[in-house]
Amino acid sequence: MTSAALGGIRHSASDSVALVTAASGDAPDRFDVAIVGAGIVGLAHAWHAVRAGLRVVVLERDEFAVGASIRNFGHICTSAQSGLAYEYALRAREEWLTLATDAGIPVSAPGTVIIARRAEELAVLEEFVGERTDDNLLLTPTQVAERLGFAPVGAIGGAWLGLDLRVDAPTAVPAFAAHLARLGVEFRYRAHVLGVETGRVVTTAGDVTADRVTVAVGHDVDRFFPGEAEKHGVVRCRLRMIEADAPAGVTIDPGVFTGTSLLRYDGFTQTKAAEALRDALAREAPALGEHGVNLMLTQRLPHSEAAGRLVLGDTHHYGLTETPFEDEASDELLLAEFRDLFGTELTVRRRWRGVYASSPNGPYLVAHPAEGVTAVSVTSGIGMTTALGLAASVLDL
Ligand SMILES: Cc1cc2nc3c(=O)[nH]c(=O)nc-3n(C[C@H](O)[C@H](O)[C@H](O)COP(=O)(O)OP(=O)(O)OC[C@H]3O[C@@H](n4cnc5c(N)ncnc54)[C@H](O)[C@@H]3O)c2cc1C
Repeated sequence: MTSAALGGIRHSASDSVALVTAASGDAPDRFDVAIVGAGIVGLAHAWHAVRAGLRVVVLERDEFAVGASIRNFGHICTSAQSGLAYEYALRAREEWLTLATDAGIPVSAPGTVIIARRAEELAVLEEFVGERTDDNLLLTPTQVAERLGFAPVGAIGGAWLGLDLRVDAPTAVPAFAAHLARLGVEFRYRAHVLGVETGRVVTTAGDVTADRVTVAVGHDVDRFFPGEAEKHGVVRCRLRMIEADAPAGVTIDPGVFTGTSLLRYDGFTQTKAAEALRDALAREAPALGEHGVNLMLTQRLPHSEAAGRLVLGDTHHYGLTETPFEDEASDELLLAEFRDLFGTELTVRRRWRGVYASSPNGPYLVAHPAEGVTAVSVTSGIGMTTALGLAASVLDL
């Protein structure tokens, strides 16, 4: 078997990751399920496995999860999904509500308000609301302002998606992990996984053996299984996020989408009216397309360390490798758009980059590169919304 060393992991020609011999001579610990990655996808698998009575270990390279799962809006956008993602989202919604009760994770259920500022946006919303049986409503501009707690400049109407939830990602993810630990899941942080094979995982903190191994490393799925990632067309999507003070006195309970969101989620893009909106935005606001802008926001929940601040985003830039260089034009564009929406300047408090796996071939990579080894990656920006449903289906316990 030919193999090539790659950063401590040995990749065979057949795309399985061969083992590197463990440094320690101790017998490895034994589990039913070993999960690589403590982001939402890894935790979702641990949640279903431990409740099925299995002995579970989660192996995470960092001191705590710092990936996409804590960098997002915490927007559980159930209604905007379609097909399999919608099925997963409905299941995940129930699981989030169970976690709110069982784990005490604050989950807010004010739905999402979509602000329409173009006739083409309204047309998408009318078609979408007409087709769905969810708890969705079309809104007049006055109703948009009532539900949002502020009057967005230029709104000609909108819609409310009643199923959508919100969590504070930077606190929800560690709280979820802490709850899993109480249920008996073992967490090993600072355990960089060097290789996996049937029944065995090698980490910088010692080996473990397990009947099942689930690799849930987000966009780094290509580091483990380059062939599977390439087959699925996986690239990295780089996003800019901004946290700003809310305008004085403004409290925005729902998640907020705008017209650009209608070109991003399958539930909207599959409407007939979406094409005219795509044309209109390309014609009237090409910079939004150039930077992949999805103008949306959530407000930090009251228990958050940044309570009340607005989480504003986002831009999308794609590539196999993420460039380290941030183009100031992206942030300027985002801030200008929000200034137009609120009719006022916003004071920026923090900025960050997020990265997730993306593929034109569908929102999930689920592969079985070796007996008992499963690779799972959400290849669209909907992991918070759907992972808790996806994991139940992948584990199939
Ligand atoms: C800016 C941004 C906004 C988003 N907004 C939303 C939203 O509002 N709603 C929504 O539904 N989705 C949203 N998403 C998408 C969502 O956050 C992701 O789909 C989801 O978090 C992916 O989860 P994950 O567990 O696969 O990845 P991650 O959270 O990245 O976790 C992967 C983990 O694997 C670990 N790991 C990697 N390699 C190794 C190794 N060799 N050994 C051990 N550990 C390893 C990493 O350290 C990391 O902790 C957003 C994403 C971004 C970036």
